[in-house]
Amino acid sequence: MDLSLSAEHEMLRDTVRRFAETEMSPLVEHAEETETFPRQLFRLWAEQGLLGVRYPESDGGSGFDKLADCIVREEFSRVNQAFASAWSAHTHLGIWPIWKTGTQAQKERFFLPALQGEKIAAFGLSEPDGGSDIRAMRTKATKVDGGWRLNGSKLYITNAPIADFILVAARTAPELKPESISLFIVEQPDPGFRITALKKHGIRGSETGLIYIEDAFVPDDCLLGEVTGTYPVILDSLSENRVGVAANCVGIAQGAFEASLDYARSRVVRGRTIGAYQAIAHRLADMSAEIEAARWLVNYGAWRVDQGEIDAATAARVKLIASETALRVTESAVRLHGGAGIMREYAVGRFHNDAMVYVIGEGTAEIQRNIISRSLGLEKP
Ligand SMILES: Cc1cc2nc3c(=O)[nH]c(=O)nc-3n(C[C@H](O)[C@H](O)[C@H](O)COP(=O)(O)OP(=O)(O)OC[C@H]3O[C@@H](n4cnc5c(N)ncnc54)[C@H](O)[C@@H]3O)c2cc1C
Repeated sequence: MDLSLSAEHEMLRDTVRRFAETEMSPLVEHAEETETFPRQLFRLWAEQGLLGVRYPESDGGSGFDKLADCIVREEFSRVNQAFASAWSAHTHLGIWPIWKTGTQAQKERFFLPALQGEKIAAFGLSEPDGGSDIRAMRTKATKVDGGWRLNGSKLYITNAPIADFILVAARTAPELKPESISLFIVEQPDPGFRITALKKHGIRGSETGLIYIEDAFVPDDCLLGEVTGTYPVILDSLSENRVGVAANCVGIAQGAFEASLDYARSRVVRGRTIGAYQAIAHRLADMSAEIEAARWLVNYGAWRVDQGEIDAATAARVKLIASETALRVTESAVRLHGGAGIMREYAVGRFHNDAMVYVIGEGTAEIQRNIISRSLGLEKP
């Protein structure tokens, strides 16, 4: 197994880093302050071929692999996780299932315009009573002439307030089991969808919605895949995306680490830069070692995806380690900054709030531990 980066991967990292620093960074402050996502970013990403990184050229993508996808994520998150989250909900959660199981017509209508930045995608799985527990999903789809009627609600949906279409999970059979869930592509705005933007402590520059769905009509051709047949697709999509989200966590940690290193070199206390004190130097050494370990684990996860061998437990291990690393590293970053760490003028507090999102979103750390422990053959609770 060779986990080293190819010349193309290195070039991609340099290009994306430059792009993130020059085009994305200037938009961060306004987006975070106003809690609004700058929609023009989707056009800019499309122009750079950054919306289809992991999709084959034959399907309209840029023809890279999962490792490349992880590099892009790390570089975006190093600058701002809110923008990286909007990108992730769009390029993976909202369109990967369409790429995997959509009809040619669905791909032309939704997948391709999404790769070209013409339509923004979101993915609605979580609900007020069904976040960790998909089994508790209540949103229902009832068969009617020519289509389906959707009723229910979705909570904490990234991009929902700005989406042109939302991939909505709904129960198409009455049994409370995951196998009774289907996916629908719902164009927005839709008179049956009421979407409210939520206020957040983390990833404030992305827009997250609460959705009420009342008698929304979805035509038959917007059902994705087989009726009650898409649960395995959802699970595969989540596994692959957990490796991606782990790369985001490495980027968050890296951004906080670099800010801390700069601060340790410039902040003078009792006549010495604080980096000269061993307690601070060791803190930075631990941060750098933990980031390096998480990055190699992400590369391994990406390699497993590229081999077509990713399983739920491996993805859970990668996501668990990277997300908790980001949380520890960003906490260290805030503490190393002293009082400045609490001030909005410095980015480390934002990095810490953003890291907190990823021990919760995409399946909490406890749920990742449940997945891993089940793979160890332990009895189900
Ligand atoms: C900013 C943000 C963006 C998001 N974007 C999206 C999105 O785009 N699409 C989408 O569908 N969802 C999205 N989510 C939802 C996210 O996936 C859920 O918040 C997450 O899965 C947890 O569900 P919950 O919030 O209902 O927590 P709960 O399920 O209520 O969990 C509460 C606590 O109980 C623990 N817990 C629950 N069950 C167990 C168990 N069996 N064993 C041990 N501990 C348990 C949890 O770990 C947690 O600590 C987003 C969330 C956030 C915060």
